[in-house]
Amino acid sequence: MNAQIGFTRRIANWAKGLSADEMQSLSVEASSREGSRNGSSREIERRRQLYEDVGSFLFAHDLDITPVNFGLALDYLTGNDHEIEKAVCAILKERGQITNVLAEKIITERHSKELTVDGLSRMLTSVEENLDRFHLLATESRTSASSYGEALQAQVSEIESDHSPEQLVSALVDLTRSMVDKTRQIEAEMRENQKKTNALQQSLESARKAAEQDHLTGLPNRRAFEVFLKEEVKAASAKGEALSVAFCDIDHFKHINDTHGHDTGDRVLRFVGSLFARISSEKCHVARHGGEEFVLLFRGKSVSEACEIVDQTRADLAARNLVDRNSGERMAQVSFSGGVADVFNYPTPRDALKAADRALYLAKEHGRNRVYMAAAITED
Ligand code: GH3
Ligand code: MG
Ligand code: MG
Repeated sequence: MNAQIGFTRRIANWAKGLSADEMQSLSVEASSREGSRNGSSREIERRRQLYEDVGSFLFAHDLDITPVNFGLALDYLTGNDHEIEKAVCAILKERGQITNVLAEKIITERHSKELTVDGLSRMLTSVEENLDRFHLLATESRTSASSYGEALQAQVSEIESDHSPEQLVSALVDLTRSMVDKTRQIEAEMRENQKKTNALQQSLESARKAAEQDHLTGLPNRRAFEVFLKEEVKAASAKGEALSVAFCDIDHFKHINDTHGHDTGDRVLRFVGSLFARISSEKCHVARHGGEEFVLLFRGKSVSEACEIVDQTRADLAARNLVDRNSGERMAQVSFSGGVADVFNYPTPRDALKAADRALYLAKEHGRNRVYMAAAITED
C-alpha cells in the first residue's frame, strides 16, 4: 500500500514537472505558513484532479502509458505547451481520436522545431573544422615563406659560383613567380575560409538569439531571463542596489481562447507583451516565461516601487477596449494579475521567484486584476 502511494506521488510530482528537491521545499514552505493551509489543500486537489484527467485521457484514447504519452496528455490538458495543445486539438477535430503513432509524431515534430543539441554540435564541429583549416593554411603560408627564404639564400650563395648573371636572374625570377603563385593560392583559400567562418558566425548568432527569444512576442524567453537574473543578482549585490522580481499571468486566458479562438489569443499575448516591453530598460528586464505568463526583473527598485510600475501596466491594460479583429466584436475586459518579491529577501533567486508566484496565486484568489507584494503576504 505504502509503495503504491509512493509511486503515485512520484508520478504526480513528475507530472507537475518538479524535481524531488523542489517538491520537498514546496511542502516545507507550505506547512510552515499558517495562512496557506487552504491554498495548499486546494493545490493538492488541483493536482489530484490533473492526475486523474491525464489518466482518463490516456484510457479514453487507448494510449500506452509511456513518458511521451503522459507528457503529451499533460501538455494538452494544462496548455503548458501551446504547440502541442494546438496539434492535439487539430487531430481530435479531424479524427476524434489520437493514437500512439500520432502522439509520437506530434512530439517528434515539436522537438524538431527546437534548437537541438545535435544541431548545435554540428555547428561546433563545423567551426572546429574551419579553425583547423585556417591553422593549416597559416602554417602552409609560413612554411612556403620560409622555404622561399631558404631558396633565395641558396641562390645568393651561388652568386660566387660559376653561373652567369643571366642564369641567376632567371632562377630568381622563377623562384619569385612560384612564391607569388603559392601566396595567391593561399590568399584565395583564406578568403574562402573567412567567408565560411563569417557565415557560420552569423548562424551561431541567430541560433543564440532564437534560443533566447520568444517567437510569438519577440520578448526574451525564460532561458534568457534566467541569464539576466544571474547577471543582475551579481550587479545589484556589487552595487548594493535593490532587486525585485514580478510574476504576471493573464486572467482567464483560456476563456479568451475558447471565446475568440487561438489566433486572437495569440494577438492578446503579443499586445500584453508590447505593454510590458514599454517598461523594459537596461534595468528592467521583461520576458515571456511561457504560456500567458510574463516575468519582470527590476534593478534599483524596491518591491513597492516595482509593484507600482507593474500595477500601472495592469491598470493600463484593464482600461483598454480590445476588439477581436476576426469578428469585429468588442472583447470583455482583458486583465492580468501579478506578484512581486524582493530577490534579496530569500535564500536564492529561485525562492524569490516562487514567492512572487505565490503572491500571484493569492492575487488570483482574491479576485484577479490586481498585483500583490510577497512581503505583505508573509505578514498575513
Ligand atoms: P487564470 O486566470 O487562473 O490564470 O486562468 P487562465 O485561463 O488564464 O489559466 P489556465 O492556466 O487555465 O489557461 C492558460 C491557457 O493559456 C491555456 C493555454 O491554452 C493558453 N495558452 C498557452 N500558451 C498559449 C499561446 O501561445 N497562445 C494561445 N493562444 N494560448 C496559449
Ligand atoms: Mg498561467
Ligand atoms: Mg492565466
